[in-house]
This record gives sequence, structure tokens and C-alpha cells, in this order.
Amino acid sequence: MLMEHKIAPDAVDFIDDELLARLARQGEDKVRVREVIAKSLEKKALSLEETAALLAAESPELIEEIFEAARRLKRDVYGNRIVLFAPLYIGNYCVNDCKYCGFRRSLRTTVRRTLNDEELVREIIELENLGHKRLILVYGEHPNYSPEFIAHTVEIAYSTKSGPGEIRRVNINAAPLSVEGFQTVKKAGIGTYQIFQETYHRKTYAVYHPEGTDKGDYFWRLNSMDRALQAGCDDVGLGVLFGLYDWKYEVLALIAHALHLQRHYNVGPHTISFPRIQPANGLELDLPYRVTDAQFKRLVAILRLAVPYTGLIMTARESKAVRDDVIEFGVSQIDAGTRLEIGSYQEKDKQGQELNREQFQIGDPRQLDEVIRWLAEREYVPSFCTSCYRKGRTGEHFMEFAIPGFIHNFCTPNALLTFSEYLNDYASPQTKAVGEALVKKEMQRYQNEKIKPQLITRLEQVNKGEHDLYF
Ligand code: SAM
Ligand code: SF4
Repeated sequence: MLMEHKIAPDAVDFIDDELLARLARQGEDKVRVREVIAKSLEKKALSLEETAALLAAESPELIEEIFEAARRLKRDVYGNRIVLFAPLYIGNYCVNDCKYCGFRRSLRTTVRRTLNDEELVREIIELENLGHKRLILVYGEHPNYSPEFIAHTVEIAYSTKSGPGEIRRVNINAAPLSVEGFQTVKKAGIGTYQIFQETYHRKTYAVYHPEGTDKGDYFWRLNSMDRALQAGCDDVGLGVLFGLYDWKYEVLALIAHALHLQRHYNVGPHTISFPRIQPANGLELDLPYRVTDAQFKRLVAILRLAVPYTGLIMTARESKAVRDDVIEFGVSQIDAGTRLEIGSYQEKDKQGQELNREQFQIGDPRQLDEVIRWLAEREYVPSFCTSCYRKGRTGEHFMEFAIPGFIHNFCTPNALLTFSEYLNDYASPQTKAVGEALVKKEMQRYQNEKIKPQLITRLEQVNKGEHDLYF
């Protein structure tokens, strides 16, 4: 039976298909591209028309200018922090039949499982023992995964501790809820509510999400961020599953969604994710809109320029090589040590994936320690900071950008403190050596004379074994 989908009568459908299609097809205008790049470097969010101008750039030199601008915006404005998290799949029962997904209900070969409380606690302990502080809990869509159930799992994540380990921010990726449902999960203390529209193109949406399934209701999903915000969730995360439809159209639709939220709730999306379709159990899709690596790089750089107040998440669906290449264009969060099989963080010796137990194939299977070493070697500071959320400074990305000195006063010190905590508690000797050298270098670069003495004291405290110190 389908769930009742109650949408407010005044809900706004902000996807103007004709407009987006027209903008996605427009031709290159060199002068306009350069004007828009200049505007974005002033940290101004772009309009649909301006984003379309960047998407239309096809000449190699213009594309290179877009890359350089994204690099610069990332480097000069956000600095070199990368926030780390892990996904934790809670259950893969699903009433939907999304054609790209290894959990779709018609797949009889998928092994179905939901973690019980004890199993969930064990998974969280494993993640804490690796050093994780931020999780995203992921659920199929099923009556068993009610708002109360989701809230219960979030509460378990926060209350489970292992040695110095604890989870300090729990985000969720779950099926769209009603306003009341969102209020229930908000009460449990969720950070970000994340959900991907998959494709904003209605006709394509109907192809991949059969009618008569809960997910077949395009507008219920499109309106879910509105309901989350109306329910008091402060941070919402948008996304598109790239490969279903024209990538330029989808980027414009993401911007339309962001502008809609900004206009109606005075807050843009906290994050945008841009997963590309990966091989999955029983998946034999012919995908005419597959996004190449070169296009992927462009779309990330253009998103960086278009929504300066929004965090960009690049997941472990991407290979190490792609992550290596794309990270500099403004990515702010990545997952690491990712395992998708339900209950598999406990199976430490297990190598590789068993696709009939997982949603899709990942491209970057590296362990957290290895990812951290890689970041540190590239002089990115891995951050486990959760301070804004816990101090009630929501919309932190907005503040990073809009409040002068914010990154310097809060983000950089908190990244160095949480990174040092990780190095002391969990790092391998090799990673610790690389990491400590980076912290030292960062401290030499750090110039804020008011904060610096306090930061030095707190780093000393962390190095003596204190935990959870932040600004
Ligand atoms: N069941 C909920 C839903 O569909 O919104 C929760 C999210 S689902 C477990 C997480 C996301 O994985 C989906 O929104 C979809 O974008 C993505 N996904 C599904 N199949 C995928 C595939 N074959 N490759 C890459 N990502 C995929
Ligand atoms: Fe279910 Fe989500 Fe997979 Fe669709 S994408 S089949 S809703 S788990």
C-alpha cells in the first residue's frame, strides 16, 4: 500500500522544465562567461542564467578559467580543510523499484537485512574505533523505517561511546517524510537531512521510478526539503544521481532548488552531492546520459562557483584518481573507509564487495587512515569538526563565507584540534608523522594573534589526552 503523501496546498513547484531546457542548450558567450566568473569570485551566488553561461562554456581555455576560479575560490575562501564522514547503512528493505539501485524491490537476489540495536551498537563502536566522528545513516524506504525508528537509530548513534570515541554529528539519508515525521527525527538531533532528487527531469524521473511506488511521486520528493525546513530541520542536503539525464539540465535544476529554498526559507542547502551511477547488483542499464570524468570535473567546478554558501560532497563512488583530480575544485566533504554492506564495518577482515548485499559498487575502498594520509600529503587538513552544529551555529557554510574571519577564528582551529585528536588516538605511525608535520606547518601559517595563543594551549591539552576542545 502506498504511503499517504500530504503536501501543503501552497507548495511551490519550482522546476520550470522549458526554461531549464532552454538554458541548458544555450551556446557559448565568452564575454559573459568571464563576467560571471568575476562575479563568482566576489563570493556572490549565481542566478540560473549566470550558471547557464558557465555551463555553455566549451572552449578549452574558458573551461580552464572556470577550473582556475573554482580552485581559487576554494583555496582563498574555504582554505584547505576537508571534512570526513562515513555512511552507515541501517537497512535495505525497500518498497520502491528504482531501476538503478541494488536494493530495488523486484531484485530477488538481494540479501535483505536491518540492523537490530545490538548490531547497530557494534557497527558504531567499529566506526568510532577507526576515528570517525560524523556519520550519515542510510535507509531503504519501507514502513519499518518509520520516523520513530529512524529517531531511535540516531539516538543510539549519539549515545554509543567507545574509549575516547564518540559520534558528534549524525546526518540521515532517508525517504521523504511528512512535516510531523521530520519533527520526530529533528528531536533526535539529526544534523543534515539529505535526499537526492535523482533527476529533476520529470519524464526521466517517471522512467526510473515506476508509477504506483512511493518514490514514483515526483512532487512529494521535490517538496521534501520544504517540509524538512518547515519542521525545523536547519540543514538540508540536495543531490542528483548523475547519468540519468543531461548533466547541464540537472546542474541548473539544483541551482533552481537552492534558489527556491533561499527565497522561501532564507537558507540555502547545506550541502549538494553529485553521485554518478555505479554498477550495482542486477543493473544492466543503457545510460545515454552517462557523465564522463571531464564533464564531472566541470560540473563540480561550476557548482562551486554558483553556490558559494553550500558544502560540496564527493563520495567514495568515485575512484581515488577522480577524487585526486577533482577535490581541488571546491569539494568540502568526503566519506572515507566506506562500507556499504549492512553490518560489514564489524567484518574487518572482509575484502571487496558482495554486490547482492550492497547498493552499488564503490570506487574508492581506501581505509580512513589511508585517506587521511593522502589528504595530509596533499596539504589538506582532514577535519572532524562538529562545533557549529553543536554550538547552534547552523548554516555554518553560510557563516564561513559571510562573516569576516569566521574560517580563521573557528574552522581552521577546530580542524587542527580534531585532526590532532585523530592523530593521537587512531592514526598509524606513518599517518601520524605526516599529519603532525602538517599541523606544525599550519600553525606556522596561522596568523590570528588573538586566537593563536588559545589554539596553542588547546593543542597542548589535546596532545596530553584531552578531547573535544573547540572554538
Ligand atoms: N532509499 C532512500 C532514497 O532512495 O532516497 C535513501 C537513499 S539511497 C539508499 C541513497 C542514494 O544512493 C540514492 O538516493 C541514489 O541517488 C543513490 N544510488 C542508488 N543506486 C545507485 C547506483 N547504482 N550508483 C550510485 N548511486 C546510487
Ligand atoms: Fe529503495 Fe532508495 Fe534504492 Fe530506490 S534508491 S530502490 S528508494 S533504496
